[in-house]
Amino acid sequence: MKTILITGGAGFIGSNFIPYFIKNNSDFNVLNLDSLTYAGDLKNVKEVESHNRYTFMKGDICDRNLIEELFKKNDINGVIHFAAESHVDNSISSPDEFIRTNVFGTFTLIDVARNYWMESPHNYKDQYKNCRFHHVSTDEVYGTLGETGLFEETTPYAPNSPYSASKASSDFIVRSYFHTYGMNVVTTNCSNNYGPKQHDEKLIPTIIRKAIAGENIPIYGDGKNVRDWLYVLDHCKGVELAYAKGVSGETYNIGGRNERNNNYIASKICELLDQKIPRKDGKSYKVLITYVKDRPGHDMRYAIDATKIENELGWKADENFETGIEKTVAWYLEKIK
Ligand code: NAD
Repeated sequence: MKTILITGGAGFIGSNFIPYFIKNNSDFNVLNLDSLTYAGDLKNVKEVESHNRYTFMKGDICDRNLIEELFKKNDINGVIHFAAESHVDNSISSPDEFIRTNVFGTFTLIDVARNYWMESPHNYKDQYKNCRFHHVSTDEVYGTLGETGLFEETTPYAPNSPYSASKASSDFIVRSYFHTYGMNVVTTNCSNNYGPKQHDEKLIPTIIRKAIAGENIPIYGDGKNVRDWLYVLDHCKGVELAYAKGVSGETYNIGGRNERNNNYIASKICELLDQKIPRKDGKSYKVLITYVKDRPGHDMRYAIDATKIENELGWKADENFETGIEKTVAWYLEKIK
């Protein structure tokens, strides 16, 4: 039995990934390392907490001694690295933690893995020959798009926020470990995720929460910013596939081909709530939509070309935005019951 280290598994995507991965991979123990920042919550992994192939460890990815000890004690055979500071707004008000966790934390993890798995550059220890470091990243590293065009794996990096700059830096560290040390690495760059367990601060949970509370639903600027929305389980399927079958040193874009602007998203959620829990005054939840001052440096449009992972690894999104958002709203309504 091999043990895989999954970082950030108490956060939104990691906590959707772990139960899915454990179910599909009976030959792996999962060690979830998470420092439980404000964004991590052990309730998110409740469904696996007593699973015999699951262990949780509270700790910081920047803590080299701890990571070294974890590798030794658990004989780590692979890493899927989700842990990060992930909220763009927070990166604008306090960028330091983004640089520490996303840049220094990624460096610490991959460097410990290299020392543990490798004898010397381009030379793995025999028992660790196929050990892989999978880095989970974002499409935000590519910057912003105009009205047309798609981000491809070859699109030059042009990060615009401290968040995306820190993720871009971490991508480059991982890339350099492939070229310099011959490490077995793969990176996935995904578009905006939504679905169960997302932190309240993010756009879709905020719209749902504010609407239900009868409060104004804040939408930045004119609401025309476009993102390519992907249901979180489709992202998890892409990560699992790239971890198992991706070519070492390659990057794969994961995106749903579901471009929607914020006005559409807010309206769609309001319509679902109108059907499921109509307001007492008979009006649509849409009356709560309120435009607020735009985020500084707000990227206009992101959209992913997922052809590479579709053609080379056979990935495909199972949900479109309309089916995924229905499941998501149902999950939040159940949560607040
Ligand atoms: P999240 O903020 O919900 O979760 C991050 C988790 O990492 C939390 O549980 C937190 O406690 C943990 N963490 C933070 N700093 C840590 C540290 N120093 N040591 C150990 N654990 C730490 O984030 P998410 O939305 O689940 O995103 C996961 C990954 O996916 C991130 O790398 C993010 O950049 C990437 N990503 C997210 C999206 C998205 O739409 N959410 C899209 C593309 C890529």
